[in-house]
Amino acid sequence: MKTGILALQGSFHEHAETLKLLHRDFIFVKNIDDLEDINSLILPGGESTAMLKIQEHTDLFQKLESLIKSGIPTLGTCAGLILLSGQNIQGTNTINALDCIVERNGYGRQNQSFEAEVHFEDFTADYCFIRAPKIISYSDDVKPIAYQDSDVVGLRRDNIVGLTYHPELTNDNNYLNWLDSFLKKDSNVGSF
Ligand code: GLN
Repeated sequence: MKTGILALQGSFHEHAETLKLLHRDFIFVKNIDDLEDINSLILPGGESTAMLKIQEHTDLFQKLESLIKSGIPTLGTCAGLILLSGQNIQGTNTINALDCIVERNGYGRQNQSFEAEVHFEDFTADYCFIRAPKIISYSDDVKPIAYQDSDVVGLRRDNIVGLTYHPELTNDNNYLNWLDSFLKKDSNVGSF
């Protein structure tokens, strides 16, 4: 069994480098045939509108939604969180697995990207926010798990984690340890 990394566009190679550091098998997911042998999933950052457009005439996101809702550990970073957040962007629906509202480019344009200290679960590290989405609200069963100052920058519901920043560009040991144990979780942690 492998970790699927959505590889339509964006920072999928960087997530692959992270999984190599953890000696974990992975497969780049470009269409539904790539989903056969996966037991965890990473949705990378990049440009959510481009990713939505590329898969628009396929069943890929519907299949991803049912896999995620079957309980496999799923991490979305930046645009990956936008894809999980359940909204209609330029006429195309996102995956709708994490009940939250995020504002795309909520901190401003590319040149307002920044690096900042994040408190994530039980550790602190500096991470990059690149045209990051801002978390506006989330439902009661979604828990905040990461903060930058007083802003919530990470959410979790059962098997699903969404972060507005890019830990795969840092690969600090705390993140690697967290990811390794997160991806090992049984696929029944999340029951919808
Ligand atoms: N602003 C991008 C979007 O709307 C996300 C940026 C990122 O993933 N680094 O999809």
